[in-house]
Amino acid sequence: MSVELDFNEERYLKLLTKLIGETKYLQDNPPKFVPEEDRAIKHLLDLLRPYTKENGGLLKVDHVTYVEGRGNLMIEYDNGHEKGTMAFIGSHLDVVPANPETWKRDPFKLTIEGDKLYGRGTTDCLGHVAIVTELFIQLAEKKPKLKRKIVAVFIAAEESMIIPDVGIDKLMKDGKLDHLKDGPVYWVDSADVQPCLATASATMWKLKCHGRLFHSGLPHKGVNSVELAMDAVTYIQKRFYQDYPPHPSEKDYLFATPSTMKPTQIKTAEGSVNQIPPWAEVQGDIRLTPFYNIIECRKKVEGYVADLNKDINVLVSGDRGPCSKYDISIPEGDFKGKLEVVWEAEPFKGIACQLDSIGHLALREATQSVIGECKPYSITGSLPLVGEMQEAGFDIQVCGYGESSVYHGDNEYCSLSNMKNALKIFTHILNKFNQ
Ligand SMILES: [Zn+2]
Repeated sequence: MSVELDFNEERYLKLLTKLIGETKYLQDNPPKFVPEEDRAIKHLLDLLRPYTKENGGLLKVDHVTYVEGRGNLMIEYDNGHEKGTMAFIGSHLDVVPANPETWKRDPFKLTIEGDKLYGRGTTDCLGHVAIVTELFIQLAEKKPKLKRKIVAVFIAAEESMIIPDVGIDKLMKDGKLDHLKDGPVYWVDSADVQPCLATASATMWKLKCHGRLFHSGLPHKGVNSVELAMDAVTYIQKRFYQDYPPHPSEKDYLFATPSTMKPTQIKTAEGSVNQIPPWAEVQGDIRLTPFYNIIECRKKVEGYVADLNKDINVLVSGDRGPCSKYDISIPEGDFKGKLEVVWEAEPFKGIACQLDSIGHLALREATQSVIGECKPYSITGSLPLVGEMQEAGFDIQVCGYGESSVYHGDNEYCSLSNMKNALKIFTHILNKFNQ
């Protein structure tokens, strides 16, 4: 028997309006913004309540909370399943912050303009939360017999891992996801409709550069931390790209770029323009394609920095003039510039999805059938925990139906027609696993 689900546009838009209406309180960037995911969960529970087991329905709904007000939501549909599961996980309830001043529309309100649905979280990721919820309500209404148990997990704390043990990391540790090894697991949080084959490992770094403060008219008595930072970053990047050249497997996975290491932020001691600055701090990230090991990569970078501290003079090229030195001997004493690398948080481990698994093949086939073409891609964006989950034996596949062009950007939107297609693709996969 084949399941047929039809998109209930009115219900979908009503739910999405409520969810986007909460996004002011779902912004995630601690300590400034600590989200309250339960505000979104409340609307989901209101909608799901008539269909829960407690009320004679077929949905098992579990609100799993580790930190007050910051819950996760698990939904299961089981109508006499024989064996196996099929899961939609990774759609998250928190959003990245939005600055209303740089938006053309109110980011914290759903604005509908033709096919475009504007608002923070429409693409990333509440548009997905709403469509997966719609899927479960349709199942609960139509009550098809399905051979597998269908599971959804909406998670808290995806956009920032600074506060641990709130979302998927804790669900994993607690064994709450273990039963999902029994079937494909679709991580629904990428974009652009087509299957995402791989994501990158990522780690954030900070390079602290210590120099010596002095009057800039007597530059030979100072150690210029800004120049030190520029030269040190150039040196470190050069060695990184020697150790991490494009990997041959990146072609098979259709990666747009190879691994990268780059600075993205810079800070210096507050002072005046006529002072040699005593310290500078450069921050950035490393995005490593999943064919390289991120932990080893961190050790390598620590090695580059250790080499520099041993012999800081390799950074002196003369290009910055005769007085720019990182190791000086003056009557006041000897001074040497120093570097320190600090890792800000646990790294994200990338994933190269299994391309021959039943989960992957079903996603390809469904995409081809609904969209008319299947053009998978890989990016050096990163998702939490997917690498660890694959290592632990889950068949993780990544998909998403928002717009990558506005991911974490201003005037974020998703398109209603793509969300409709998402439901069709999910239905196609359901039927595939019901044959
Ligand atoms: Zn996301």
